[in-house]
Amino acid sequence: MSSFSPDLLIFGGGIAGLWTLLRARQAGYSALLLESAALGGVQSIASQGIIHGGTKYALKGKLSGSAQAIADMPGIWRDCLQGRGELDLSGVRLLSEHQYLWSSGNLTSGVAGLFASKLMRSRVKPVERQGMPPPFDAPDFHGSLYELQEPVLDTAALMQMLADQAKPYCWQYDPAALKVEKGRVHLGDFQLQPGRILFAAGEGNRTLLTTWGMAKPEMQKRPLHMVMLKGRLPPVFAHCLGASANPRLTITSYPASDGEHVWYLGGQLAEQGVERNWEAQIRAAKAELAQLLPWVDTASAAWATLRIARAEVATPGGRRPQESYLGITNDALVAWPTKLAFAPRLANQVLTRLEKEGLYPSGNAAFDLPLPKPVLAKLPWEKVQTWN
Ligand SMILES: Cc1cc2nc3c(=O)[nH]c(=O)nc-3n(C[C@H](O)[C@H](O)[C@H](O)COP(=O)(O)OP(=O)(O)OC[C@H]3O[C@@H](n4cnc5c(N)ncnc54)[C@H](O)[C@@H]3O)c2cc1C
Repeated sequence: MSSFSPDLLIFGGGIAGLWTLLRARQAGYSALLLESAALGGVQSIASQGIIHGGTKYALKGKLSGSAQAIADMPGIWRDCLQGRGELDLSGVRLLSEHQYLWSSGNLTSGVAGLFASKLMRSRVKPVERQGMPPPFDAPDFHGSLYELQEPVLDTAALMQMLADQAKPYCWQYDPAALKVEKGRVHLGDFQLQPGRILFAAGEGNRTLLTTWGMAKPEMQKRPLHMVMLKGRLPPVFAHCLGASANPRLTITSYPASDGEHVWYLGGQLAEQGVERNWEAQIRAAKAELAQLLPWVDTASAAWATLRIARAEVATPGGRRPQESYLGITNDALVAWPTKLAFAPRLANQVLTRLEKEGLYPSGNAAFDLPLPKPVLAKLPWEKVQTWN
């Protein structure tokens, strides 16, 4: 039986697994990755691609732990996008340099005061009427618009670039064929004896934990019901603030091949729409857009929805974790990045941990596993079978 002994064996080829794999290879670890479906992940390829810098969280009035941890992320990503960062992402296009915040009408005094505060002044820039991008340049827009220093990435291009660089070290496997025995991973007619294992399989971490007979760390799922609409729409990258500091609606846009745009709607609409069926969710989205951007013509747009869950480490009360999470057990490191934007932080956590455990790089050995190569995941709107 053939046997392979990588320094690091990673399960899951979303942003967490791919970023960590590339950083580990760069550091000289003989790392390899097993993916059960497609490179690019489940949540990662379906994310809104916003590289948050924490402004959304600072809206609560103070810098939470989360806002502080994430503040460095846009800078790290921008360096990578400019080809001078820890990974080379210079071919990945930005869909937008900025994310915007808009208010539907009068801001509540608390939120208005916050925008004027020192905390926010360095993060958000009010946009004057003559500089407003579409669709906020319309005479019917009477709210306020703020520019955030948070880029929005083309997630398909991002995952493609990471997958291209990672492909020599990635394979597709069938989790049903996986057997674990005394630290060895058996897969059909070969086995792996890794120095360390990393579970970076998003929601799939739960199955992996079960396979290894582990009950902890526990995972939570926060479900979303996203809405997609496709048509002759202007590109929009913005959070809408309602009466509270929680974004009521988040819109990102993606250019479709026929010159149209897909609007991808998240925020409270997606969180509160989990209980609705797809028809009711589309009705709710139409009502939101009719109220918030009534002058934008969506009459001829085609609609669809996507049910997806954020997979994270469990927290008391099921709240969003503050940062990327790395769980440490004897059998495996267990990772949930919490946000796409946190991938660089998570990879650092893994590398720091390996060093702390005295697992040093053994060299960049290549492997040739007798398994197929994984394909690339598709964007959610490329998988829609029936637009409504
Ligand atoms: C709708 C939505 C929008 C979001 N928008 C943003 C945003 O704008 N900005 C932001 O920073 N974050 C955003 N997030 C959060 C972000 O997408 C996630 O935190 C991040 O993508 C998780 O990455 P991951 O690699 O852990 O998981 P995934 O991307 O889910 O990847 C896990 C991978 O593991 C594979 N897998 C599963 N089981 C196994 C197994 N047994 N063995 C091997 N492989 C397995 C899966 O096939 C998949 O490829 C969003 C999330 C959602 C759901």
